[in-house]
Amino acid sequence: MSGLRFNAILESQKRTPLPIEEKGRRSEFFATNVFNEDKMLQYLTKDALESVRGAIDSGSKIERKIADQVAEAMKGWAISKGATHYTHWFQPLTGTTAEKHDAFFDLLPDGKALEKFGGGQLVQQEPDASSFPHGGIRNTFEARGYTAWDPTSPAFLYGTTLCIPTIFVAYTGEALDNKAPLLRALNAIDDAATAVAKYFDKNVSKVNATLGWEQEYFLIDKSLAMSRPDIVMTGRTLVGQTAAKGQQLDDHYFGVIPSRVLSFMRHLEVECTLLGIPVKTRHNEVAPNQFELAPIFEEANLAVDHNLLLMDVMEKVAEKHHLKVLFHEKPFAGINGSGKHNNWSLATNTGVNLLSPGSTPMKNLQFLTFFVNTIKAVDTYEELLRSSIASASNDHRLGANEAPPAIISIFIGKQLSSVLDELEGVSQGKLSPEEKTELKLNVVGKIPEIMLDNTDRNRTSPFAFTGNKFEMRGVGSKTNCAKPMTVLNTIVAKQLMAFKTEVDVLVDKKNLKKDEAIFNVLREYIKTSKRIRFDGDGYSLDWEKEAAKRKLSNNKNTPDAIQVLTSKESLELFKSMGVMSEVEVKARQEVELEAYIMHVQIEGRVFNELIYSYVIPSVVEYQNRLINNVRGLKEIYGASFKKQANSQLIIIEAISGHIAILKEKTDAMVEERKKANIMTDTHKKAYAYCEKVKPYFEEIRYHCDKLERLVDDQLWPLTKYRELLFVK
Ligand code: ADP
Ligand code: MG
Repeated sequence: MSGLRFNAILESQKRTPLPIEEKGRRSEFFATNVFNEDKMLQYLTKDALESVRGAIDSGSKIERKIADQVAEAMKGWAISKGATHYTHWFQPLTGTTAEKHDAFFDLLPDGKALEKFGGGQLVQQEPDASSFPHGGIRNTFEARGYTAWDPTSPAFLYGTTLCIPTIFVAYTGEALDNKAPLLRALNAIDDAATAVAKYFDKNVSKVNATLGWEQEYFLIDKSLAMSRPDIVMTGRTLVGQTAAKGQQLDDHYFGVIPSRVLSFMRHLEVECTLLGIPVKTRHNEVAPNQFELAPIFEEANLAVDHNLLLMDVMEKVAEKHHLKVLFHEKPFAGINGSGKHNNWSLATNTGVNLLSPGSTPMKNLQFLTFFVNTIKAVDTYEELLRSSIASASNDHRLGANEAPPAIISIFIGKQLSSVLDELEGVSQGKLSPEEKTELKLNVVGKIPEIMLDNTDRNRTSPFAFTGNKFEMRGVGSKTNCAKPMTVLNTIVAKQLMAFKTEVDVLVDKKNLKKDEAIFNVLREYIKTSKRIRFDGDGYSLDWEKEAAKRKLSNNKNTPDAIQVLTSKESLELFKSMGVMSEVEVKARQEVELEAYIMHVQIEGRVFNELIYSYVIPSVVEYQNRLINNVRGLKEIYGASFKKQANSQLIIIEAISGHIAILKEKTDAMVEERKKANIMTDTHKKAYAYCEKVKPYFEEIRYHCDKLERLVDDQLWPLTKYRELLFVK
């Protein structure tokens, strides 16, 4: 009998929901552990506060004297709340976050102890980061990396450590992280969108990209999760017969949240609230044991930090509840995987959402401007946008038979489609007064009403307009949102700049009125970006064919998807927008490929272990039992034993058959791995893993799952799907 599996099941059944203590009203303890504006008001002089505000709003530099003061204030605040350490908190290209803790505690030359933290330590640090992925940047430049304070994301107290959000760059200036390019992209969209927004309102001086992510995840009992080597090592199940019941009854979606899970969620929400993460909704998702959490949207950089912090907090809180969070995009075959919808919009310093239709024709023209430019940007750079969400684990969703597909398209709904259709008919050049009135009253003017009953929703579209924001749905549940947000904001910034240039030319050279010029340029964008608009079922074969006709990319795996990163157009885009240099982009591609290789490699190794050390031994044990039985029958019945032993013999042979194939395929997979491992070109190696190694996984799984159904449940060593997913 399989000890680990049955002990884990027994363990999991002893659990009870942990009692959760709310710390009063959430609005009252929101951001208690964040060194935000409120705390700065308390702890900083007026000058210092102004200086930090300047850095946040316009990126101005904070002088060393002021940094000293901020550091002193942060230290005082943090220590008063029990902090002993501080850390620069950063986002290396591994996709997660990293930290290295230093104690405030220090000794003076005379041996006296004190707590020390100055501007120097706040502003810059040099983590020993030699083993973070850098895609060759540090080798090329023989430069070390350092972390630098990002004052736009407030420091926070986590446990007893003061965490300071930072960027991570090489001494030669190249970004070694995901945050630095994001900040540059946000800067680019601020400049570009502000310039365009000024057409409509001179008072606009800043535009922030906003992000509201929706985090999906699975929760599994910790003992059960730990009983599966594949979950422990790869975050997903590599094998496993699907349970008799999956998600077909829809009885989990938005159903009653199981009490143990609710207790976890409440605990998590309390922690998030203390950390200033504005969590808002929680519910069951489609698959059993799958859940979702979403916050109120925030400025994109802060939202990215909050998502990364959330994922970390989730793991820690889950541990206390004897649960394991699975962030993998496809932890279980046969049921839905997890994503992280990125809701995105643009907000002005005057409090206007630029993707929200307004109450006057002018406001609606503003809406249309940003709406159409976003569509145009996504049309031009659809393949690049796809590349930003590529990963080994997300390949199981995008391009596999699950929404959304790997083809980027935009859903805007019937009503807005017909508005765009009408705008296509706008006259060239100057517009007659009648046409202008007609446009304002009956096309642009009707938008708010249209939006009110814009109930048609398309759940499979990878990029959907949902009322006052675009929703990017292909982002993986594990992905750092900084990656798609960097690309999205860069391409829209680029597009808005091109738009402004075109409009200005029409106004200056062709004497068109501003609104006429805008209508003229938008008309052309609507015409030329039509192929990206698609309202139908995003993952049908017909759409694949149609998308191919439209020349939309359909990159189903990571090595294919990320080639475009280093195309001439992409390199030019990132460079011209000041987001990434060629070296930085190439480094990122290299890091992504390496990550891909490692993921598939690790999965391959775990397959070996599962097949040779778990599956085959237990199956042989069962087969021996059958053989003994047949032997016994032969003893009793002599020559006519076959009549009695027929079924047993069939099972014995079936087992041998599956074992033979398992052995053959596993060994062949190992051979392909060996061949791949000696390749020195990262691109070729990634393709070898993708095209030569990975295809064996499906075959191995198939035979393994067949065996799971054949052998005695008591002997099967791997915790089954029904136990992982339905034991509460
Ligand atoms: P859904 O039906 O997809 O759940 P919701 O309207 O509930 O849509 O919003 C989902 C997410 O969108 C939330 O996280 C919310 O904060 C975010 N969101 C709403 N408005 C904006 C906006 N203007 N910019 C960015 N995100 C937004
Ligand atoms: Mg959503």
